[in-house]
Amino acid sequence: MSIERAKAVLDGARRILVFTGAGVSAESGVPTFRGGGGSAVWRGMDATELSSARMVGSDLKLVWEWFEYRRGLLASCGPNPAHQTIAEWADRFSDMTLVTQNVDGLHDKAGSRDVLELHGNIWRGRCLACGALERLDDTPLPEVPPSCSTCGGKHRPDVVLFGEFLPEDVFKRATAAAERAEVCIVVGTSALVFPAAELPLVAARNGASIIEVNPEPSGIGGPLSIMIEGRAGDVLPRL
Ligand code: NAD
Ligand code: ZN
Repeated sequence: MSIERAKAVLDGARRILVFTGAGVSAESGVPTFRGGGGSAVWRGMDATELSSARMVGSDLKLVWEWFEYRRGLLASCGPNPAHQTIAEWADRFSDMTLVTQNVDGLHDKAGSRDVLELHGNIWRGRCLACGALERLDDTPLPEVPPSCSTCGGKHRPDVVLFGEFLPEDVFKRATAAAERAEVCIVVGTSALVFPAAELPLVAARNGASIIEVNPEPSGIGGPLSIMIEGRAGDVLPRL
């Protein structure tokens, strides 16, 4: 029933915002934050401490070793039907923006272009000396921390760490997309991590219908138009 309603809403729409969280990658074998990925302990240390701005300052090598561990787990994960469906939607809608909180790069791998990555990408480094961004696709890396091929400085992971702000330009473009969207479809996010979780609220305030796909209702609450209870990989292809 809710799938049919959502299909009808989507069929009449041109301007779409797709907003994804860890749940869209769950069926690819990537643990969600609250499903264990966020409470991980590695070498006796808390994941939130290892993934912190403070740790980049105090032990960059350790941060990279932790990220290499995570990159190693992700290397064997591929996009699932949810990522693939979203990639195809770029042709279905004349104005579609994809905003993700994920750092796993799976939207990229499924063929989505111009993904607005609110929390960065684990497959990219950012030079601490000159700011250059560099794709670092190979894992294990030949050295950690990796060196910048522009200036020889040290890279840090190009990921938003605990204690850091979202990249301002990316968030601005995501907010603009939320303001003009006719439909905002929220997939696999607990919608608890602000300011990212603000986007569906912005869209709703500007008159968009909000469709949520999640096995459990999330924190969006009020402005929700259609809730589709189910797994992203099952539901999205049917939309
Ligand atoms: P979250 O872990 O807080 O919430 C995940 C949500 O996905 C839950 O609401 C859960 O019910 C739902 N879910 C689980 N399986 C699903 C499925 N098969 N289909 C659809 N939904 C499903 O994740 P979040 O809201 O993205 O916030 C956590 C933060 O952790 C984010 O900032 C993100 O950057 C980070 N994170 C990223 C990854 C990744 O890159 N894949 C993984 C874990 C955490
Ligand atoms: Zn550099």
